[in-house]
Amino acid sequence: MKPLKIAVIPGDGIGIEVMDEALKVIEVLKTLDPNLQIENTVFPWNSEYYLTHGEMMPKDGLTTLQQYDAILFGAIGDKRVPDEVTIWELIMPIRKQFQQYVNFRPVKSLPGIASPLSRRKNIDFVIYRENAEGEYSNSGGRMFNGEQRELAVQNTVMTRTGIESLVRAACEYAVEHSKTKITSATKSNVIFHSMKLWDEHTSAIVNNEYPQLSLESYYIDALVAYFVERPESFEVVVASNLFGDILSDLGSALVGGLGLSPSANINPEGQYPSMFEPVHGSAPDIAGKGIANPIAQIWSLALMLDHLGRKDLAKIIVDSIVLVLQKGDVKTADIGGTSSTKQMGEAICEQMKKLV
Ligand code: ATP
Ligand code: MG
Repeated sequence: MKPLKIAVIPGDGIGIEVMDEALKVIEVLKTLDPNLQIENTVFPWNSEYYLTHGEMMPKDGLTTLQQYDAILFGAIGDKRVPDEVTIWELIMPIRKQFQQYVNFRPVKSLPGIASPLSRRKNIDFVIYRENAEGEYSNSGGRMFNGEQRELAVQNTVMTRTGIESLVRAACEYAVEHSKTKITSATKSNVIFHSMKLWDEHTSAIVNNEYPQLSLESYYIDALVAYFVERPESFEVVVASNLFGDILSDLGSALVGGLGLSPSANINPEGQYPSMFEPVHGSAPDIAGKGIANPIAQIWSLALMLDHLGRKDLAKIIVDSIVLVLQKGDVKTADIGGTSSTKQMGEAICEQMKKLV
């Protein structure tokens, strides 16, 4: 079998600590399947690199990354470097250059994890967030600075191709995973230029190309309430960049928080590498203490293996995470325990060995 070439970018703060545990999981996978060849190369492109070199990555960084099958990313952010630099000179160029227009986030309740919902629900859905256009565009500007009539304009850019590609990717996932329903987040009653385009092409794709799937469409203000009231009723949610951002953080909070939330930035066509990363940031408040929860990072590795066609290995990892949480004797502080990052990583590795 062809070796899987993985570019690893641990980043800053707890990104480095949780990535260490994900790398241990890769080593365990190699012992479980002697035919498995994973070549991982670690790239030290982070804030420290920026302070030394004046850039977040070398000029040919993207060309280098393009030679890999996937990118496993930790987290980036350091108070010595402005967010504009870390985000716009590392993460955004990767997402844009490799056309990772799908942001995929699973939201799943886990055993032994408290939820803020008073009634425990069996939550298991995924969010497909549009990751390349929409409300997060550079288009706009300010006028009349300092005057009473000062104003700012921020344009939303939605394209038919952008909407169709995102919705199609979500429908493909739904069909492959025997789901029956797509839920769309909209606000076309008031944002009637861009969101109407969203509605029209979302319903055209689902209804014309995927007759086996049903489509429900909700205004975003109603949908956030339904996320809290009946989260178990959702299967696959499609949303614009801004709405998807908000919904996925809400989803994460419903099932136990950032320490447990993985994500994927996907180029569905597969001509470029996709990137897998925890939802959380570098968390300077707990960095260096060895107490960060590595589950979001390890689960992101599982999403990567799933994407690369190794569903069997992804399942071993996710099943092991579930079993460790079910047992409940190893828990990091964010989920109510006192275990360290390393202890959680080790518990998952040990569980993986027992599963095979
Ligand atoms: P960003 O600026 O990208 O939002 P951040 O550095 O502010 O990143 P977040 O990821 O937003 O950090 O996390 C917010 C807080 O949640 C952190 O400060 C930390 O206390 C907690 N947290 C985040 N990730 C983890 C984790 N893996 N384990 C434990 N606690 C975490
Ligand atoms: Mg934050």
